[in-house]
Amino acid sequence: MSTALRKDWDTYFMDIAYMVSTRSRCSRRHVGAVLVQGKKLLGTAYNGAPSGVPDCSEAGCMISEEVEVIVQNGIEQLVKKQRCVRTIHAEQNLLLFTDRNDREGSSVYVTDEPCWTCANMLANSGIVEIIYHRPYPKDTHKVTDLMEKKGIVFRCLENYQPPQETMMTVSN
Ligand SMILES: [Zn+2]
Ligand SMILES: [Zn+2]
Repeated sequence: MSTALRKDWDTYFMDIAYMVSTRSRCSRRHVGAVLVQGKKLLGTAYNGAPSGVPDCSEAGCMISEEVEVIVQNGIEQLVKKQRCVRTIHAEQNLLLFTDRNDREGSSVYVTDEPCWTCANMLANSGIVEIIYHRPYPKDTHKVTDLMEKKGIVFRCLENYQPPQETMMTVSN
């Protein structure tokens, strides 16, 4: 096999995060996260309802409406956004299913840029690096600021291409 075909570690672990995200049963968003220590995979998680209770595919998404301030060309606009609040976010599930000792000095690969709540929890979890792919502009500013203050490496894999079979098909 040609070495040119060999995936670099970032691609390798982000591919796994995308594979994991396909387990999600929320039709609005599929998010996957993996915990990596050195080059060792220590845990995987996706967004979902707590185990044993109906998930989004069975009970439907639990929609919450929020008003968001969006600044465009210097003009502030109030925009209504809908979110599904039935699921525990992938990053939070990752923290629930991994050990503190394993997390110390580890990295998290996550398909989507963490929201503020997840970022806040990750910042206190022992991990030292977060690598994400799809941006989540709403919280970027305060999340980036937090990671800087905590000295956590926070980077986006801008040129990454997810495996085709992991691409989400949105059902209504
Ligand atoms: Zn949902
Ligand atoms: Zn989150």
